[in-house]
Amino acid sequence: MDSLPTRTTAIARASDAVAAAKRIVVFTGAGISTESGIPDFRGPNGVWTKNPKAEKASNITNYLNEPDVREAAWQNRLTTPAWTAQPNDGHGALVELERQGRLHALVTQNIDGLHQKAGNDTSKVIEVHGTVWFTRCWECDDRRPMEQALTRVRAGDPDPSCLECSGILKSDTISFGQALNPDVIDRALQVSDECDLMLAVGSTLSVFPAANCVPRAKAGGAPVIIVNGEETAMDRYADHLLVGQIGEILPALLAEPD
Ligand code: NAD
Ligand code: ZN
Repeated sequence: MDSLPTRTTAIARASDAVAAAKRIVVFTGAGISTESGIPDFRGPNGVWTKNPKAEKASNITNYLNEPDVREAAWQNRLTTPAWTAQPNDGHGALVELERQGRLHALVTQNIDGLHQKAGNDTSKVIEVHGTVWFTRCWECDDRRPMEQALTRVRAGDPDPSCLECSGILKSDTISFGQALNPDVIDRALQVSDECDLMLAVGSTLSVFPAANCVPRAKAGGAPVIIVNGEETAMDRYADHLLVGQIGEILPALLAEPD
């Protein structure tokens, strides 16, 4: 078990690596948002850890073929915690890093929009798995604010279809079995090649191709810091492995150097 002084030393060492870097890429997963009340999938209290059936509903084939699955998804979207969640100290620390002028890009697997809500510039945030704040038509790609579709659901439409072409609508997120947007994932891998430090936060680093950002940065010579509450699939790449609460570790790790 980690004693407190050991952990403080580990954070201080990693902080030195951060202070020496000028083009930092941060890679975030669901773990950075749990302290804002949005559950992750695979952590100890994750949605799938507690209810393995929930994984099936996020499969694109089921969504497209089964109206019941879509209707249940729209009901869930009415009350998704993302609408009211507030960014936490972990998100805040990444805004501070951008203010210091050392954030090259923020690659996120999260779909909750909390990095932008916290104040990171939208041009820095690369949402490799999309966002719940918009809908996209499966047929014609028409993209609109989610609120428009939710208003229709509240008015009694159980499965609102595209206003342009009547195609199936879903949130503008990447479901399982669905291809990633090639421009977005290419940009995420590109910034990972360019960075001089990779900071991976709150991810099991087990979802591909997004998780490839970490070995790509490492291959380019960048040191890797991993912050997570448990082990990840890529701990072997880490120069600094910080295990604990993200909301406590990130502010300490990213405070302005003296
Ligand atoms: P994951 O659920 O696989 O892993 C999250 C990790 O964070 C776990 O290892 C967990 O132990 C750790 N963790 C949780 N809270 C923590 C805390 N406060 N401090 C330290 N560690 C903490 O998440 P993932 O790797 O991002 O992959 C899941 C996929 O699900 C992603 O593709 C993402 O798109 C999606 N997802 C997004 C959200 C969101 O937008 N907030 C939420 C759930 C799932
Ligand atoms: Zn359409």
